[in-house]
Amino acid sequence: MTEQAPIIIVGTGLSGYSLAREIRKQDKETPVLMVTADDGVSYSKPMLSTGFTKGKDADGLAQGGTDAMADQLNVRIRTFATVTGIDSEAHELILGDERLAYSKLVLAWGADVIRLGLDGDGQEHVFSINDLMDYRAFRQALGEGKRVAIMGAGLIGCEFANDLRNGGYEVDVIAPSEEVMPGLLPEAAAHAVQQELENLGVGFHLGTVVDRIDRRGDGVSLTLANGETLDADLVLSAVGLRPRTDLARAAGLETARGIVVNRALETSAPDVYALGDCAEVDGHVLLYVLPLMACSRALAKTLLGERTEVSYGTMPVMIKTPCCPTAVCPPPSEAKGNWEVEQDGTSVKALFKSAGGDVLGFAVTGSYAMEKQALSKEVPPIHG
Ligand code: FAD
Repeated sequence: MTEQAPIIIVGTGLSGYSLAREIRKQDKETPVLMVTADDGVSYSKPMLSTGFTKGKDADGLAQGGTDAMADQLNVRIRTFATVTGIDSEAHELILGDERLAYSKLVLAWGADVIRLGLDGDGQEHVFSINDLMDYRAFRQALGEGKRVAIMGAGLIGCEFANDLRNGGYEVDVIAPSEEVMPGLLPEAAAHAVQQELENLGVGFHLGTVVDRIDRRGDGVSLTLANGETLDADLVLSAVGLRPRTDLARAAGLETARGIVVNRALETSAPDVYALGDCAEVDGHVLLYVLPLMACSRALAKTLLGERTEVSYGTMPVMIKTPCCPTAVCPPPSEAKGNWEVEQDGTSVKALFKSAGGDVLGFAVTGSYAMEKQALSKEVPPIHG
């Protein structure tokens, strides 16, 4: 039975479609079935936080409809089909009452947004954006609105703050951290990005949280823990993502922060693999595009019979705050060393150096951002 069964890929995000593309580069015929809970439209998720800057709405950001993708990749795609379980012993995927046999199963089902349980009756004005359908709903709800409050000052919160200002909206950012992008940027670089966003007109309310959101007129009033109140038409919640692990754990697969896989993207169950935002690859949870592309290339070979381990190179992250171009390559969490900072106004070059003087990570903003390529060559890859 399992010999005729297709490779099933769950998810049509960048991970699912990149993997299908890598498979088809090497093999035109092996049956592949893609199953997705959404509409299957192909898009580049990082572009969602550039819509206003690039003058594109949700339709403008879509890259390929489902039928076109199925034709192009010679795969079958089932849309609005939510997986509810995995029977790894029987090699079957479970969708409610239905069971689908697989020869090999790839979990590329992404991460969930973290939702805060806040008090107040204004919750229907709170949006999260983690896919194109969310983005479409947000843009529709924005309508004639003019004021957006963003909860969270991480990469996604800051990118949307810049983009919404470029779209002419009034933007307030509220976050518990004292700096923007904590854990990603060193202090000097974080201050530079915040300064340039403030110069653009973004209001920051850091070191505090939103306590409650109440309806007021057509919009909402946010009450912050520091006693401030803010009015907004909409609230964008960008407080973080959590790899989707529940179904995998229920199926007996090993999970930790993500679905645990080794460098060959193998889970603890035979013939079940994971990549992208849902996966913890050799101890790393990296919710970025470059890692999932590297994983797609390796996994396609493995699925076609040549077991291949992923090799991560150095993978800088570009932060899409055009008011302050920024690139960062965080040092490994266990790395020992210090940040050395060179600064000219909001142009910052911060190098994380070991005691021996080796560069283990960097963050560059403003005019120094142009040095990202050269610096990437100095930083050792994640897998040496
Ligand atoms: P997803 O795109 O989330 O896809 C998951 C798929 O699984 C979807 O098709 C979903 O419908 C499906 N699915 C989920 N559950 C089920 C189920 N039970 N049954 C069936 N199907 C299911 N990264 C960068 O490197 N650079 C950037 O500049 C950058 N900018 C970003 C900006 C924004 C606004 C956001 C939100 C992210 C950004 N990222 C960036 C992160 C990057 O976009 C993600 O790491 C990447 O897109 C994740 O792709 P994925 O395919 O793993 O997951």
